Amino acid sequence: MARFDIPDGWTVQAYRFAIDPTQQQHTMLRSHCGAARFAFNHMLTLVTAVMDQRAAERSYGIADTDLTPSIGWSLPKLRKIWNQRKHEYAPWWAENSKEAYNTGLDALARSLDNWAISRTGLRAGKPVGFPRFKTAARSRPSVRFTTGTIRVESDRRHIVLPRLGRLRTHESTRKLARRVEAGSARILSATLSQDSRCRWYVSFQTLIAGKIRPVHARRSPDPVVGVDVGVKADALLVVAAPDGRELWRVPAPKPLAASRARLRALQRRAARQHGPYDSVTKTRRLPSKRWQATTARIGRTHGRAAAIRRDVLHKATTTLAQQHQVITVETLNVAGMRSAGGARKKGMNRALADAALAQIRQMLSYKTRWYGSDLVEADRWFPSSKTCSGCGGRKPNLTLADRVYECEHCGVSIDRDRNAAINLARLGDTQSSVGEQGPADSGSAAGRGARQETDPTQVGDAAGCEASTRLYTTSGGGKAGTVASEGMAA
Ligand SMILES: [Zn+2]
Repeated sequence: MARFDIPDGWTVQAYRFAIDPTQQQHTMLRSHCGAARFAFNHMLTLVTAVMDQRAAERSYGIADTDLTPSIGWSLPKLRKIWNQRKHEYAPWWAENSKEAYNTGLDALARSLDNWAISRTGLRAGKPVGFPRFKTAARSRPSVRFTTGTIRVESDRRHIVLPRLGRLRTHESTRKLARRVEAGSARILSATLSQDSRCRWYVSFQTLIAGKIRPVHARRSPDPVVGVDVGVKADALLVVAAPDGRELWRVPAPKPLAASRARLRALQRRAARQHGPYDSVTKTRRLPSKRWQATTARIGRTHGRAAAIRRDVLHKATTTLAQQHQVITVETLNVAGMRSAGGARKKGMNRALADAALAQIRQMLSYKTRWYGSDLVEADRWFPSSKTCSGCGGRKPNLTLADRVYECEHCGVSIDRDRNAAINLARLGDTQSSVGEQGPADSGSAAGRGARQETDPTQVGDAAGCEASTRLYTTSGGGKAGTVASEGMAA
């Protein structure tokens, strides 16, 4: 249900920039986000009241035709009712752009829709509950502008938005500005949001022409690679070729380890302070100001660690998708492994969260589409770590502590992550036919042991499915500005 048609050869992509609003703009932004929340909550109250009224009438045996008329919850209907009611219930409405209220109503229409479809069983994934009220504490402040003056200034340091005017960006907007100036990008909308670290971002949803493997990208002589996601801090990613060479090793960035040490210290401090739970009387209590300050710092440190990790992963996955034709990754049942208890839990928990395999797969799945390469996912039971890359023997009792794979059959001694990467590369090699016929034929690759994520025949319109999830604002990683599928909190 796309609200617009994507022209042939164009892709939807988000460009996200941190912004530095002035104090006055900050106040206006807060006001707009509050207005969106107000519209959402106000109309949710009305929808719920009408539904309850109809249910009550039905229980009295009133015929369906005589019930209080139901109000539709499509966006145009919600908007129409809101416009009739805003003068009475929100006499201050003119202080904010109409786009603010539209943001809230759009979110409500979508969440009601998701709930209704989920109830019929037609929606994939977990069941969706009835929308809850938005609170300032729970919801992430955001507002989306779809009409009016939305512009990236040519000085590459400012953007222009309706009502808010000129906002300074924290970083250069050149990546988007260049494309806009060259006519290969069209801005569809701009979403402003504030993250948990209180920084404001603008995310431009844009149509990009001809998003393909850039000509300047160095093509690696190794078309097929396997990528192992390290669980220990020494390597975040290890990339190897099917013939056993290790091509690339992405070390875990130093600031990440530093922030982890910082987190441990902060968490110990928070535990000593007057927290919200009294373990003696087993009751909740008002936490101290100092506990709150420490907790806020823990949140900021987590946020910084996540940002560092995301940056490294974005750079690595872009290089991978641009340079290689077939990229094989493993599929870990991360949720299942995290719920495993005992002593394993602590280390695995942190390592897995850090290694962020899920993040890598998600980034690779759209970047391989952009750059015309293929992602092969080894299935969950593919023993990439436990198989010897030298002789094919198995070592079923390999533990995470074993950093080196020592084969008792052929005597090979090899770095654990490298061994796994080689095995994955070989799987990718057998699963794809890139060596013989080129990428156009690798659509038939999906088979036992692997699942082809990207169908190369659909490269041209790959963005279609992303956009058809209805104008979700996509927010991606920092400077590069990329589409990721973490939608706005609805
Ligand atoms: Zn062996």
